[in-house]
Amino acid sequence: MASRPAPRTMTVIAKRKVSPSMLRVTLGGEGMVDYPPDQQGGYVKLRLAPLPGKDKPTVRTYTIRAQREGEMDVDFVLHETPDGSHGPATDWALAAEPGTVIDLGGPGPAKPLPEGMDFYLIAGDMTALPAISVNLEALPRDAKGIAVLEVQDDADRQDLAAPEGVEIRWLVNPQPGTQPDLLAGALRDIAWPQGDVHAWAACEFSSMKALRGLLREERGLGPDRLYISSYWKSGLDEDNHKLAKREDAEAV
Ligand SMILES: Cc1cc2nc3c(=O)[nH]c(=O)nc-3n(C[C@H](O)[C@H](O)[C@H](O)COP(=O)(O)OP(=O)(O)OC[C@H]3O[C@@H](n4cnc5c(N)ncnc54)[C@H](O)[C@@H]3O)c2cc1C
Repeated sequence: MASRPAPRTMTVIAKRKVSPSMLRVTLGGEGMVDYPPDQQGGYVKLRLAPLPGKDKPTVRTYTIRAQREGEMDVDFVLHETPDGSHGPATDWALAAEPGTVIDLGGPGPAKPLPEGMDFYLIAGDMTALPAISVNLEALPRDAKGIAVLEVQDDADRQDLAAPEGVEIRWLVNPQPGTQPDLLAGALRDIAWPQGDVHAWAACEFSSMKALRGLLREERGLGPDRLYISSYWKSGLDEDNHKLAKREDAEAV
């Protein structure tokens, strides 16, 4: 079995707001030397300081939104828990400034859209917006489809380099994780497309389950026609979300 690549030490070289709820951190430095090329859409594992009472780093998963010579962008959704606090990765991004260093595991593989489909159905919340943006950029310009995207604020809509034939529908929900049927409902509202359909969805756990019910159980899309993933779970941190995912995978 291939061994995991050792974590690399990255240095923050820039930070800017992409929209009210999205913060872009550009990483570079020593860790980018000989970094494998074209990893945009793949994921990295931030290795943050251990939480109180733990001795291992706190690990959080993020997407490589873009990669250039010697640098990469990672987009952090700014979210708050009901008590107004943030998770450690969000806290790290908020506090990061040029010169801040971070160890990064990965990269793990991207989940691109397969070529040659007649229609692409895409659904995601802001955590999946980086991966979806990369996938839309890579589609042939004559591709057709629809993408339903849940954002926290009207101003979180981004200009996406999608083919003209891919319609983008923005759904605003200021409290992510509270409307599990929002994305599935938006896809249910469209006329089911003709021909070869491929669906790609990533979002909060309960939204993922509603989408899976629609796309797999109701519409019968098999594993070769459907990529679906839970990226986080409301009320759980990433470690406990992973456990919930494992239980879910064993149950279905
Ligand atoms: C393959 C993959 C790629 C991902 N890519 C990205 C990415 O590019 N950008 C990105 O922002 N996220 C991305 N995520 C999701 C990200 O890993 C989680 O949101 C993670 O929990 C954030 O860590 P944290 O330390 O801020 O919060 P945690 O400590 O994990 O959680 C603390 C609290 O915050 C809540 N919470 C976590 N995320 C959100 C959210 N988005 N909205 C509202 N509440 C939340 C949790 O439910 C919990 O109550 C990705 C996940 C996966 C699996």
